[in-house]
Amino acid sequence: MSISITLQTRCAGVCELCGAEPAVIEITVSPKDESTENQVAICTVCETALANADEKNHWQCLSGSIWSTEPAVQALSYRILYGIRDESWAAEILDSGAADESVINWAMKAYEVADVHQDAYGNVLANGDNVILTQALKIKGTSFSAPKGTQVRSIHLVHDNTEQIEGKINGTMIVILTKFVKKG
Ligand SMILES: [Zn+2]
Repeated sequence: MSISITLQTRCAGVCELCGAEPAVIEITVSPKDESTENQVAICTVCETALANADEKNHWQCLSGSIWSTEPAVQALSYRILYGIRDESWAAEILDSGAADESVINWAMKAYEVADVHQDAYGNVLANGDNVILTQALKIKGTSFSAPKGTQVRSIHLVHDNTEQIEGKINGTMIVILTKFVKKG
C-alpha cells in the first residue's frame, strides 16, 4: 500500500486524522470512487484503531481533523465519531465541528440500512456466491464450531432480511449473519 503523489502533497506526509504520525496508507471514504478528493491519508496507528472497535480513545485526536478543509477528511472524522457518540467526548467533538450538510450526508452513508445483502466489506452478495467466515461460528444445536476461514459454498439470500444468508456448514443448513462473511 502506498499514497499517491497528489495525496502525499496534500497531507504533507502527515496523517490527516491524528495529525501526529507519518501518513502511510490512503483510504477511500465510501461510497465514493478512488479519486484523491475522496481519499484520506492515514498512519498505521489510525489504521489499527479503525480495525479495532475497542480503541475508541484514540479518536480523541479527531477534535482537530473534524475542522479539516478537506471534505473527505471531515466526512471520515464525522463518521468515526458518530459511531462512538456514546462517549461524551466524542459527542462533544461532533457538536463542535461545523461540517456542511453534504459532508454529514456523506459521513452518514455508512449508517444507512442497505437494501441489498452485503458482506463485511460492503461487497454485494448474490444467491449462489461462495463466502468465507471472517470469524469462528458456533453451529446452534450442535457441538460443532466452524473456524474462521471456513468456506460456505453456494449461499442463499434470506428474502426479507439483508443481514442474513443461509448456507451449509458441515452438512447443516444454517443462517449466517452477513457481517461475519467475506465474499470469496
Ligand atoms: Zn493517524
